[in-house]
Amino acid sequence: MVGNNEFLFEKRVRRYLVYIYGALGSFYLYAFGLFHYLPKGDYVSALFEIVTGTVFLVALVVFALTGRYMPVALLMNFNLFLVLVFLAITGGIKGTGLFWIYSFPLATTFMLGIRVGLILSLLLILTILGIYVFGEIGYIRVAYDLVTVRQAIASYIGVLIMAVVYNVVIDRYMKLVVQKTVEIHDLNRKLKEIAEKDFLTGAVNRYKIYQILQIATETALETGRPLSLILFDLDRFKQVNDTYGHQVGDRVLKEVVTKVKETLRDTDIIGRYGGEEFLVILPDTPIGEAVKVAERIRKLIEATEFPEGFRVTISCGVSQLRPQDSVESLIKRADEALYKAKKAGRNRTEAVP
Ligand code: GH3
Ligand code: MG
Ligand code: MG
Repeated sequence: MVGNNEFLFEKRVRRYLVYIYGALGSFYLYAFGLFHYLPKGDYVSALFEIVTGTVFLVALVVFALTGRYMPVALLMNFNLFLVLVFLAITGGIKGTGLFWIYSFPLATTFMLGIRVGLILSLLLILTILGIYVFGEIGYIRVAYDLVTVRQAIASYIGVLIMAVVYNVVIDRYMKLVVQKTVEIHDLNRKLKEIAEKDFLTGAVNRYKIYQILQIATETALETGRPLSLILFDLDRFKQVNDTYGHQVGDRVLKEVVTKVKETLRDTDIIGRYGGEEFLVILPDTPIGEAVKVAERIRKLIEATEFPEGFRVTISCGVSQLRPQDSVESLIKRADEALYKAKKAGRNRTEAVP
């Protein structure tokens, strides 16, 4: 597929092109106008070169100020077209003017894309041939003979073909790069998900919940806001596995996480801390509230009947961050509370503030 310029040249490349053509164009035209034509007394040529040089400069400045690419690129190419026609007619300096036309296929294909570039480049050939014909008829004085014009056009076509081929190749290459970049982006997202999520339950995994808890702890200590933790563990879960099989056990874990997620606030996070043990981080929550949340979760799970006709219960341990706490000591107290809940008969909530 041949080129969509939008796709081919990302903004930065386009910016360089506008700056390069704008700077080179105005530099050469001012230099020739002021230091060649003006001292020679050729005021018409001098004026033409200064005006077209100024157009390049203005286009460059407009682009720098507005960032609008297309109007500027079109203006620059149209301006260059005029300059080249002028040089083809007058012969420029010592009859070398015609040979500037080679800059045109490069400018147009690079700046305006393959299709527009090709059309404008061919238009320039036709114009130059037209000028020559008018010269022959005697309407204008043309500085070249047919052999020179033929030679110049032949090599011009060579340059044009190379410019088009180069743009096609780059175009395909860029499409491939974009495609690969999208693939890598996708893969990165999946990897990140795998690295942070527990595959079975969809809860945050142990590594990630630990990281989140670290940040939540630092934030709470800095801001003085309360932070509470619920550690819960399924009661006699081994029996579920033994009775209904491991697959049913897996489904129970998944369902428990789904239920808990539904009842939490957006800012609360559940992570899988161990096999059938989960950690819930409750930012901005004092322990009294956290105990209520734990009880809500406990009752919700207790009330859930699984398709095989059984229910499970959980035991919860709750702790709240203290000023001297670390993540470890905070979890440790939640664990102590959980142990108390288990010891006291399970399916209950205990707190160790
Ligand atoms: P307790 O009330 O004291 O917590 O009893 P329990 O049976 O839940 O405790 P125990 O630690 O003896 O057993 C935990 C069980 O959890 C054992 C293990 O088979 C099960 N388990 C852990 N991870 C998974 C898992 O990913 N899938 C399934 N199906 N079971 C799991
Ligand atoms: Mg258990
Ligand atoms: Mg356990």
